[in-house]
Amino acid sequence: MATYRELLARVKEEIDEVSSSELLGRLDDSDRPLLLDVREQDEWQEGHLPGAVHVPRGNLEARVEAVLPDRSREIVVYCAVGARSAFATKSLIELGYDNVASLAGGFTDWKRNGYDFQTPRALSAAQRARYSRHILIPEVGEEGQQKLLDARVLLIGAGGLGSPASLYLAAAGVGTLGIVDADVVDDSNLQRQIVHSTNTLGEPKVLSAKQTIEALNPDVTVVPYQERLTSENVERILADGWDVIVDGADNFPTRYLVNDASVWHDIPVVHGSIYRFEGQVTVFHPYVGPCYRCLYPSPPPPELAPSCAEGGVLGVLPGIVGSLQASEALKLIIGAGETLTGRLLLFDALHTTFDEVSVKKDPGCPVCGDSPSITEYIDYVEFCQGPVHV
Ligand SMILES: [Zn+2]
Repeated sequence: MATYRELLARVKEEIDEVSSSELLGRLDDSDRPLLLDVREQDEWQEGHLPGAVHVPRGNLEARVEAVLPDRSREIVVYCAVGARSAFATKSLIELGYDNVASLAGGFTDWKRNGYDFQTPRALSAAQRARYSRHILIPEVGEEGQQKLLDARVLLIGAGGLGSPASLYLAAAGVGTLGIVDADVVDDSNLQRQIVHSTNTLGEPKVLSAKQTIEALNPDVTVVPYQERLTSENVERILADGWDVIVDGADNFPTRYLVNDASVWHDIPVVHGSIYRFEGQVTVFHPYVGPCYRCLYPSPPPPELAPSCAEGGVLGVLPGIVGSLQASEALKLIIGAGETLTGRLLLFDALHTTFDEVSVKKDPGCPVCGDSPSITEYIDYVEFCQGPVHV
């Protein structure tokens, strides 16, 4: 009967080993070997080789065919010191993998040499429970959830569209939400602006929203900007760093400011607008698709705009449009699916129909076109027109 030491020595004679320095020299090659980490979950969590695939030794034979279907692929297996990986390498050879080696000295030797390694971040037990329905979706999973927690979304407006959008983004675990709104909560808002409540009447909307959102999800930090977006403050607000802008603005001057800023800072904008029973949603992704000015190069002169009389809106309509905006923002963050870039979605609540028109990037656009004529912010005079009431 062989002792463990004898068995290990015999296995090591039957397999190939590579040293840390040999492996390091191969990592920048286009035909770099696939790195297979066979340690336990807690060891993996403490750090692993860059780009490695993790299959614990105990599950190796059962799972490896699903994880590594190509048996001719070059593989370097590693563990902590090179013993478990030696046995794993032998098993892989027996399973028909014909280009496998074990990392001599394992992760311990790799680290001792001062070579690069990655430390995966893990969700806490509370986060695993809270986001379990996300983690179950392959397009999101733990990695997507981490992206959401790391993401920063700027909402323009805490009104009809900003209410459902901010609530769903917060519930989904988007880690930082900036909210720009100068108004206070008014009793005529509560028919649709569900992030506010009777208890917060008279309070600044950004603070009312912050209170509701942070009660919903303590993972979320709300950054309130109790001001109206202008050419004076737009750069300061954007300097805080945002991945996506959700535009729920109710006026044209803000809409043009958001557009020009987003193009110059290359931040995608999820645009929504509502009027009575009709809603519109699209994504303005700078240089990928059209921007707002590709569709409407400049606003009409104020004297031609209709009066600023209040427009009506069905209470639930911003709920639907704002939720669609949240859905687009989540997809932009996790990088899944197909967004509304280049497509304008039209919703009619009165007849319950969705229509779609394609919108194109205009090479002659004054902001995102080939030779832009607008290179500085423009503060348009406040005016009102058509279907933009939130
Ligand atoms: Zn454009």
